[in-house]
Amino acid sequence: MDILERIDFLKDEINRANYKYYVEDNPSISDFEYDKLFAELKELEGQNPLLITPDSPTQRVGSISEKFFPYKHKYRLYSLDNTYNYEDLEDWYDKIVKEYNEQELVCELKIDGLAIALTYENGVFVRGVTRGDGITGEDITNNLKTIKAIPLKLFKPVSVEVRGEIYMPKTSFEKLNEENLKNGEKLFANPRNAAAGSLRQLDSSITAKRDLSMFCYTAIFTGQIENPPKTHYESIMYLKDLGFKINPNIRLCKNAKEAIQYCKDWDEKRFDLNYATDGVVIKVNNFAVQQEMGFTSRAPKWATAFKFPPEEVTTTLLDIETGVGKTGAITPVAILEPVQLGGSTVARASLHNFDEIKRLDVRIGDKVFIKKAAEIIPKVIKIIEDEEHYNRPVYCAPQKCPSCGADLHFHEEEVNLYCDNPDCPAKICAKIEYWASKEAMDIDNVGPSIIEQLYSKGFIKNAVDLYKLTMQDFMQLDLVKEKSAFNMYNAIQESKTRPLAKLLTAFSIRNVGKETAGVIANEFGTLENIINASVEELSNIEGVGGIIAQDIFDFFRRPENINMIEELKALGVEPAPPVQNTYDDFKGLTFVLTGTLQNMTRDEASEKIKKMGGKTSSSVSKNTSYIIAGENAGSKLDKGLKLGVIILTEDDFLNMIKGKDL
Ligand code: NAD
Repeated sequence: MDILERIDFLKDEINRANYKYYVEDNPSISDFEYDKLFAELKELEGQNPLLITPDSPTQRVGSISEKFFPYKHKYRLYSLDNTYNYEDLEDWYDKIVKEYNEQELVCELKIDGLAIALTYENGVFVRGVTRGDGITGEDITNNLKTIKAIPLKLFKPVSVEVRGEIYMPKTSFEKLNEENLKNGEKLFANPRNAAAGSLRQLDSSITAKRDLSMFCYTAIFTGQIENPPKTHYESIMYLKDLGFKINPNIRLCKNAKEAIQYCKDWDEKRFDLNYATDGVVIKVNNFAVQQEMGFTSRAPKWATAFKFPPEEVTTTLLDIETGVGKTGAITPVAILEPVQLGGSTVARASLHNFDEIKRLDVRIGDKVFIKKAAEIIPKVIKIIEDEEHYNRPVYCAPQKCPSCGADLHFHEEEVNLYCDNPDCPAKICAKIEYWASKEAMDIDNVGPSIIEQLYSKGFIKNAVDLYKLTMQDFMQLDLVKEKSAFNMYNAIQESKTRPLAKLLTAFSIRNVGKETAGVIANEFGTLENIINASVEELSNIEGVGGIIAQDIFDFFRRPENINMIEELKALGVEPAPPVQNTYDDFKGLTFVLTGTLQNMTRDEASEKIKKMGGKTSSSVSKNTSYIIAGENAGSKLDKGLKLGVIILTEDDFLNMIKGKDL
């Protein structure tokens, strides 16, 4: 392909993607891929300026649909140049320093929403228009009036044009998609598309029902004001004083080094926010310098965006493998053409269950979007419905267990397919793996591949057998030498005295995860007490409903489980009793922890609360006494505020436990 052909190809691809993204709110490629195509086109045009045409996407911003009345902006709305690496940021800053000396920079989170221009005349909201192509947008004033974060009247009667980003909180986006799923309506790919789709509704009452908000980040004063701001930072503070919502994480930095540190910090912390951000916008603070620097055809020269490594990319689905979980649930796993995502190579992603495969209509060979958020296993979120998709065969769920060949069944009112064979090797191994996992008995070095070998070589048939293993047994496994055999043996011995809550978790009782196990262990103190508890006694515990109580009761009535417990005892498994409270200052109080604490982890804080005689819970309700809110607290804090729960800072909490030996 020669250069001209390549340029035409890139222009076509980008224009097609623009239409799907800006007009249909239904992207056909990931932002990362889009940015790659765009950067290539820009580079080719840079090397061959004669080939730049006015209709090239590099010369324009966005796009408009014909759904609403077009409105010509009085002041143009630009896009931003962007980069995924710090070197480019340094280069950008170095060029500024050469010409204008060291400059202060303002760092703001780049909110992944929809750019809007709001016009106020003498303090009154008169018009709201989408960015559109930057020159003309869509007049959506009535829809914007339904958004509470947009003031209809300002605290001062000034005339100002304000730009900002409309977004939908992540929790509201999830709720909206859940409802849409229930009602058989279209699902939105991400909070940005949901915000765009909600805003560009012809019926304002639909917009009003959606939870939308807005952060403002630019002010153009169109009338006279006293002491007009001389810097970007001052103008944002002015907007705040007028009654606009601004993002609280804005930071004034001395130079590029500080700005890069800001980007690094937020690359990690962004997942704790309840709104999506895809990067950091860095702007020269001084307005006089901004004015001198000016604009290119589509973006200001005095600002640039650093984009975080992508959370979403597209790749090809090569196959669907099935695994068997500890309950016998069959889980489909997507096998992917390896792709870089969030700093690692991803070759597998979750597909949850067969209902999800049906909902996505995912077929082997399809191009799919995969997404990864902090610490979460990547998942397939969407397919690309190209022509080939419809020529591929529809995926059919398996009828036989991939491990033992038994017939699979759906359990009543559940979406999962199950293998009900109690002797299914994969199911047994999954149970033992869970027993050894961090969440349960936390046995270091004894992971899935060791457990599968131990099982297939006949050394273990269940978790209890782990405690019968000798060092020699381990030495017979592939590639296991004396040192690692010793480590594995030792880790198993150490696990014998794990806290009662961990042993209870390891039993994998239906509906009993680590939270519930913790509450029950605390309440009853010993395994004997739990075994002897009645359904009523169990269900009297806060957070344990009738169904869970019955599940626990039934578990300890099954002879094979009682035998297992006897055997464990005989092998020296003796759980440590739960942490006793040293004080009773917090007696009867329930705490919820949210956000990141500075002086301790959330687990450490829970331990301290327990020692003070209090309880912790993972969810906020009217029974919550206090919420301890760390940095970037999210939806739990919002819910607490609505319910009028007392909110404590970490310092408040430290004061409450001051002088105690915890
Ligand atoms: P952009 O989203 O990269 O950056 C400019 C926009 O950032 C502004 O218009 C504004 O809306 C927003 N912004 C958020 N916070 C801001 C702040 N604090 N200060 C200033 N601006 C802030 O540019 P764009 O022109 O809106 O869109 C281009 C990007 O959109 C691409 O880089 C790509 O990631 C995505 N896109 C994707 C597809 C696709 O098919 N996946 C198609 C088109 C565009």
